[in-house]
Parts: sequence; C-alpha cells; structure tokens
Amino acid sequence: MEHLIDEARAAIPPAIRDAEKYGTRSLYGFKSMFKTDKAVPLVTTMLRNVAALKALPNLQPFPQYLQKPHFACATAESVHRYPFIPYDPLISCEIGQVSSFYIGNTVYIFLCPTFWALPSHPEEPPLTGCCPEVKNNAFKVYPGYEVYNYQSYVILHELVHFYLQLMSLSGLTIPPEQYSMNGCVGLDYATSLLNPLNIQTYVASKYTHS
Ligand SMILES: [Zn+2]
Repeated sequence: MEHLIDEARAAIPPAIRDAEKYGTRSLYGFKSMFKTDKAVPLVTTMLRNVAALKALPNLQPFPQYLQKPHFACATAESVHRYPFIPYDPLISCEIGQVSSFYIGNTVYIFLCPTFWALPSHPEEPPLTGCCPEVKNNAFKVYPGYEVYNYQSYVILHELVHFYLQLMSLSGLTIPPEQYSMNGCVGLDYATSLLNPLNIQTYVASKYTHS
C-alpha cells in the first residue's frame, strides 16, 4: 500500500511544474480540464496538499486532532471495525460498483475488492501523442487504456476528495460528479476544480506522456 501512495505522490511534482510554467499552454490537457490560467494556483495548491498528505482538523474518528488521510480495505469486518461510519463499506462497493470511495467528514478512504484488480501504473504509454484521440466530438476510449485508470491515480482521485471535503462534486450535487473524460471537459472552470477526475486526468496525462 505504501508504495502505491508513493507512486501517486511521485506523479505530482511534474504536474505542478507543468501547470506553473505553462498553465493553459500546457501540452497535457490543462486547458481542456481547467479552462483558464486562474485555475493554476488552485490546482497546484491542491496537488501540494496531496503530495504532503496534509493533515486536516474536524474529521472522525478524532476530530479534536489534525489527521492525515487513512486508507482502509473494505471487507466483511469493516462495518464492525468502523462503527461511526453510517453504512457498510463492502456493500457500498458492490452497490456503487466502484473501486474506492472516500467517506466525507472522516479520515477514511476505502479500497474495494475491485481496486486490487487494477494495474498499479501504466507499463508503457497507453496512447501515442499527448491527448487521447477525439472521434465524433468525443474522446475515443481504448478499453483498459484510459490514461488515469491505475491504482496510483485512483488513490490520487480519492485524496482530492479528501482535500475538497464537502465542496467536491458527488452524486448529490449540481452538476453531479463526472466520471468520464468528456464529462470532465464539459465542466466550467469553477466546477472543474471540484471534480477529482479533472485533476487525476491532468496529472496522469503529464506523468504518462513525458
Ligand atoms: Zn470521485
């Protein structure tokens, strides 16, 4: 687990350098994901928080202390082990068909059984060129070759949820959280900063293609 967190953190400094040097002139999708150079300080602050695994106050189980994010495997025991969590993590994995999720107001990021079936990081650049191909005005998805669908980038995604806390887009917000590249590109500047896949995609594009 530690090495996956280290891989996620290793992908961040190149993205910070790229964002600060080029902003919307970046070759790695900054403009598609965030629209304006006004986003640079916000994106880089978020990335610095993730890289530092910065501790936050007011979170369960010890709201009186500053606490770092904590990764836990969702298993049949989780519901007994984390009694302050209002639902069964393993059942949430199954109902949501997700590989991981963060529980707001807590330190816990749960990794579902399907998380362990994802590759840890790209073995080789999955696509030629810096941007995925566009066809019929939509990104062409190569099954199994999405630039961001690796354990290390999934960890990054959940850490972004952790630092956004209740500001992050979710199933209950308008607009809702976007889980596709086209959905990410379709968000405006303000909401793009609240959708973890936008940051995940940008970091993954930079790290995979350079
Ligand atoms: Zn998410």
